[in-house]
Amino acid sequence: MARTMDHRESTLDRTILDHLKRDGLLTEGHFAYRSGRHSALHLDRDRLLADPGAASRMGYALAKRFFNDHLHTVASPSIWGAGLAQWVAYFLDPRAKVVYATPRDGQPTIAPRLESLIAGQRVLLIDNLIMSGATMGRFDELITGLGGEVIGIGALWNATEPTIGTEPVFGLLNELYEAFPAASCPLCAAGASEPVEIPY
Ligand SMILES: [Zn+2]
Repeated sequence: MARTMDHRESTLDRTILDHLKRDGLLTEGHFAYRSGRHSALHLDRDRLLADPGAASRMGYALAKRFFNDHLHTVASPSIWGAGLAQWVAYFLDPRAKVVYATPRDGQPTIAPRLESLIAGQRVLLIDNLIMSGATMGRFDELITGLGGEVIGIGALWNATEPTIGTEPVFGLLNELYEAFPAASCPLCAAGASEPVEIPY
């Protein structure tokens, strides 16, 4: 199993892409997101993690990116990210613990009994998708505030800035489908038809 890899090499194997396309979970076109960015990618976010076979493969691909980071805990701000976080933690060696936030008054909260899995630990933050970065930004502050050392941020796809706070975001599908600021969108530059507005 490769422990290091060139960042230009796609982390996501073709069978996952073929699966996502065949099942209509991934469509290609020209899309505008609320982050202000454009992309050739659109994902069916409701069904993206519904198939455990595909979810496990995507979790493995994310874990592979962070194999060498000696992670103790994988933490997620959302219920969607929590399902993915289980797979990522399972494939890390040694396996990591999983912590996910429960919303209270609209804010992600970590149950006090789980704080020992965060304080003084090396933590990877995982969500399924990062659309505006606001949720993950708040979660990063929460985890850091509890004494966790945030080692990385990962998601299936990142529709916004390539960093949150000072942390670079690893978007599994961004290697193939970047989210460009509208002003530098290569699809617009190539004269593509108007982007389809995505309401999130
Ligand atoms: Zn565009």
